[in-house]
Amino acid sequence: MDNLLKSLVVKRLEQLRIEPNQNLGQHFLVDEQSLNLLTQSVSPNTTVIEIGAGVGQITQLLAKKAKKVFAIEIDRRYKPILSGIAGQHPNIEIIIADALKVNFEDIIGKDFKDVQIIANLPYHITEPVLHKIAKLPIKCSSLVVGKRLADAVQADESNPDFGQLSLLARTFFNVELIATLEKSKILPPPRTESAIIRLIPKKETELKSNARDYLLRKLFLTSKQGTFVKNVLKEGLIEFHSGKLLTQNQAREIIKNMGIPSTVLEKPFQQLNNSELAILSSALRLYS
Ligand code: SAH
Repeated sequence: MDNLLKSLVVKRLEQLRIEPNQNLGQHFLVDEQSLNLLTQSVSPNTTVIEIGAGVGQITQLLAKKAKKVFAIEIDRRYKPILSGIAGQHPNIEIIIADALKVNFEDIIGKDFKDVQIIANLPYHITEPVLHKIAKLPIKCSSLVVGKRLADAVQADESNPDFGQLSLLARTFFNVELIATLEKSKILPPPRTESAIIRLIPKKETELKSNARDYLLRKLFLTSKQGTFVKNVLKEGLIEFHSGKLLTQNQAREIIKNMGIPSTVLEKPFQQLNNSELAILSSALRLYS
């Protein structure tokens, strides 16, 4: 069975006379079982956004399982094959574009409740994709990512892999490791093993009842560049305790008692290095 999928991918690449472009992270999933695991959360009422459709072997399976598939691909060379597949499956829409620049609300509208993001993600855009989907109220997301990234999203502050991505993932999602994939399950084989992870967004009610998650979320979502951590925390605390009408001074006092060094408090969140993030994350854990 695996060989069938691999032959299909190879045949399509030959038909199109395409040499995979490694700068665009073109490594194809050629293992049937992994493909089934990646798509197992999809049901007939699901709308899927697939990032990086490539030669469309995942897209095709998604079309059979889902209500609707938006397949985004940046590399125009794959358009003929993808258009051919869409011709056979009217529920597929091909979007030739940079997925990072596509406004998902433009394709989906406002209701993301039954939307899933499924992708064998190109390595170089994994981080920005996670930032992008953290802000969307989707049902869940199943992704093939590099093993190191899978380790990072699961890491806590005591782990050497801990960093901004770990904190982002753990703040916005419940993360599940579905499977580890040997290199041979991907063509051409990547440098490291891969993993299938599932990210399930935390419920709004969960975020609102946990001060730590609330503050971290606010830190990630404060888009005004250059705002210091202390100011975001202060505003966040006042919002979180809105019933208690916390004053600015009371909020400042709470932050002081958290014991976060001023080097961390007086920097924009985006500029914190991994050890500063670990300090902040641990301090907030103690607070809540
Ligand atoms: N889903 C396919 C392809 C995975 S390879 C499979 O597993 O078989 C990653 C794909 O993402 C490639 O086709 C690559 O061209 C595409 N890609 C890379 N950067 C992208 C971007 N910014 N937006 C959309 N697609 C992108």
